[in-house]
Amino acid sequence: MRTDSVQSISRHDYRPYPYRITHADLQFDLQADATRVHTRLSVESADASGQALVLNGEDLTLEQVALDGRTLSPDEYTLTENTLTLAPGTLPAFTLEITSLCRPADNTQLMGLYVSGNSLFTQCEAEGFRRITWFPDRPDVMSRYRVTLRADKQRYPLLLSNGNLLESRDLPDGRHEAVWEDPHPKPCYLFALVAGDFACREQTIQTRSGRDALLQVYSDHGSEHQTEWALDSLVRSVRWDETRFGLELDLDRFMIVAARDFNMGAMENKGLNVFNSAYVLADPESATDASYHAIEAVIGHEYFHNWTGNRVTCRDWFQLSLKEGLTVFRDQEFSADMMTHGLPEAEAQSARAVKRIDDVTALRIAQFPEDAGPMAHPIRPESYQSISNFYTATIYEKGAEIIRMQHTLLGEEGFRAGMDEYFRRHDGQAVTCDDFLSAMESVYVRQNPGSTLEQFRRWYSQAGTPRVKVTLAHDAAAQTLRVTLEQRNPPVGIETRQNPPVEKLPLHIPFALGLLDGEGKELSLTHKGVKQATALLELREKSQTWTFENIAEQPVPSLLRGFSAPVIVEYERTPQELALLARHDTDAFARWEAAQSLATRVLLDSISRPESGSPDEQLLIDTWEALLQDGSLTAAYRSRILSLPAERELLEKTSPLDPLAVVEARRRLIGKLGDALAPFWMTAYEDNRIDGPYAPDAASSGKRSMRNLALLYLMAAGGQGGQELTLEHYDAARNMTDRMAALGALVQYGTPEARSERLQHFYTQWRHNPLVIDRWFAVQAASAATSLADVRQLMTHPDFSLRNPNRARSLIFQFCTNNLRNVHSREGHSFWAEQVLALDALNPEISSRLARVFENWQRFTPVLRDSLQQAWRHIQSQPALSSNLSEIVNKALS
Ligand code: ZN
Repeated sequence: MRTDSVQSISRHDYRPYPYRITHADLQFDLQADATRVHTRLSVESADASGQALVLNGEDLTLEQVALDGRTLSPDEYTLTENTLTLAPGTLPAFTLEITSLCRPADNTQLMGLYVSGNSLFTQCEAEGFRRITWFPDRPDVMSRYRVTLRADKQRYPLLLSNGNLLESRDLPDGRHEAVWEDPHPKPCYLFALVAGDFACREQTIQTRSGRDALLQVYSDHGSEHQTEWALDSLVRSVRWDETRFGLELDLDRFMIVAARDFNMGAMENKGLNVFNSAYVLADPESATDASYHAIEAVIGHEYFHNWTGNRVTCRDWFQLSLKEGLTVFRDQEFSADMMTHGLPEAEAQSARAVKRIDDVTALRIAQFPEDAGPMAHPIRPESYQSISNFYTATIYEKGAEIIRMQHTLLGEEGFRAGMDEYFRRHDGQAVTCDDFLSAMESVYVRQNPGSTLEQFRRWYSQAGTPRVKVTLAHDAAAQTLRVTLEQRNPPVGIETRQNPPVEKLPLHIPFALGLLDGEGKELSLTHKGVKQATALLELREKSQTWTFENIAEQPVPSLLRGFSAPVIVEYERTPQELALLARHDTDAFARWEAAQSLATRVLLDSISRPESGSPDEQLLIDTWEALLQDGSLTAAYRSRILSLPAERELLEKTSPLDPLAVVEARRRLIGKLGDALAPFWMTAYEDNRIDGPYAPDAASSGKRSMRNLALLYLMAAGGQGGQELTLEHYDAARNMTDRMAALGALVQYGTPEARSERLQHFYTQWRHNPLVIDRWFAVQAASAATSLADVRQLMTHPDFSLRNPNRARSLIFQFCTNNLRNVHSREGHSFWAEQVLALDALNPEISSRLARVFENWQRFTPVLRDSLQQAWRHIQSQPALSSNLSEIVNKALS
């Protein structure tokens, strides 16, 4: 696994595999310390070229190789650390049998077969199957699997794998065996097995065509009361894919298993999804609204992969966004449909906007910086050293935006027709992003004769966030408005160092535009005789102008409505314009954006001139007051529009990056707004009280978020009253959302005594629930009131462990990512480097993610930049970094 010379793999080097593995018959003798795997492969030559057969392996002990039943002597194959090569000559078809050992208990990487708690789990995407047995570990080799699992019955009473259970029986010596067969050919990254002792919640449903399917959710004994929401979410996912995309479950049995130790969120293994327990377990006392929604979204996501990812998979890992971008788009739509279900039209619109706001905020916080830094890559990368470093916000979230633009260009019906065509062409295949776009294009050209999506394809090959500059020219005499859009695609990442500079070509950008008059009334846009409230401008040139008629006065433009493209808009606005849009824009997304821009402006002002503050502060306060009193807004939407932009979002807007200034400015303004509008916050607090039992639906969770936001403002205002109210809120809380909101406010703004008293109380009450203890670590780690010394202290807590990814994330990642006030010192930076190295020895997937927290080190203020550079150099100077981490370090320092 550790390599000094890290190799780069290029997209253009793709070659088809010269063999087909039609069947894979795997037999496991499962034991935590050493598991023996007997693999029997039915192999066919794909091209009769007689090329060598190369199999991948990692951390395996090879015991035996046999060809067509004859055991091979070691001089009949070539074994290196990571390959097993055979020369079967011109045999058209043969059987290859391999026996090897792997060591689950030593597997701290959590890739391949590993131990979590008392159970055994697998994780194969992207390249974990090679840690289980020798195999062509690439997604374009698809096989039918038959899996026999043998294990001690008492320790591992449940033996699960993909597909259908064919038989199970007891064996001598207290062991038992189960045989599974997956009817669908699949790449090995979708293989899974689970062995252990679990509680199960299940339900049989009828799929659309009337077939019975058994849905099951497995979790540790004692947590079965926490799986109801997960199972319900799964049922909703099945129904949604049937109705919105006409896609039916193709299995008799679909299982989800919760694992306490998991590197990512969840994994879509065919028929046997393995989930991070954080995305399965929920009950009102221990899970927040945000977790309920995340569980629904992740369950949807993994379920939707059953078609977009599994039935049609990726030809190679450069195509990762083929499945991930598309599946994120699908889960976003699923969540939006669940949030709006049954609401009257006006509220449904606002609920959809809330989902859009949350998704775009996540994109801006995570993906925009990535796209501006040393790791910038197109959604279909050109090269990589370690594929696991490319499970990025770009592949996932920007990938979803690029699918969403296709949806915008084609319309709902057209998009659906394109999806149908995609499955008609490619069901059962391993394909490319180009194949997907071609299916969509077949519909687009029918809708738009003479036009293609050729230019749109550039979104797949160009990195960086495009900038779109807007210029308006109003002609009072002619009553026309000329709108000019100009796009720039500046070089990013390695492109900035290329000589000659890469020339980036103009993209096809759908840009939604609306207009308001000086009173905030919406104007209609008439272009070439067509009259609309929102015009969708398709920008294709570097610069393009549209002329609208019958515009009597200089209008206020509402730009990039609904965030119709993942770009940054450049347009100079007055604060008054922003305030007008914040009060009146009919597009809920653009309205929110205007309010946020006004707040951002005030915050940036106060950073650049701390003595005088912002001249627009009063305008912001007045705008917030008006929004607090606008009865037409739903609580959820109001809570979004009245929140200040997150610290990390603001940080991106400072140049050079100045974290301390951001933290202080934001804390000051929250306090100020809290104080100036205290009576209104109090009213909002009272008005959004909910009686009756907990439900995570959009309306109730919206009320809780508004109420808890009001609480935060009151707490931040600093008076005695705020803290008293927060303490009462904590004590009265009957669900985790309210409880955490109060604890979070106290930890950020409370007195040391109140803070430590409630933290102690919280710990005592929840010490037996690891997911809640993760929150307890996280809320402290991210707080500006928590110093580096406090974090080091927390690391000595008996409940802390670097080996459990959720726990490492809750303390170390939270501190390094979200505690902008206290991580940015020489000591903080070396703490980060120290933890990156400690994690790298255990789990390179996790260490390289922690390393990436400071990939943008060059953009910080000089003192911080120097200190971060030193910390990076310290990491680089260590011997034997994992290949994952080396890739990141070398890119960050190049
Ligand atoms: Zn996915």
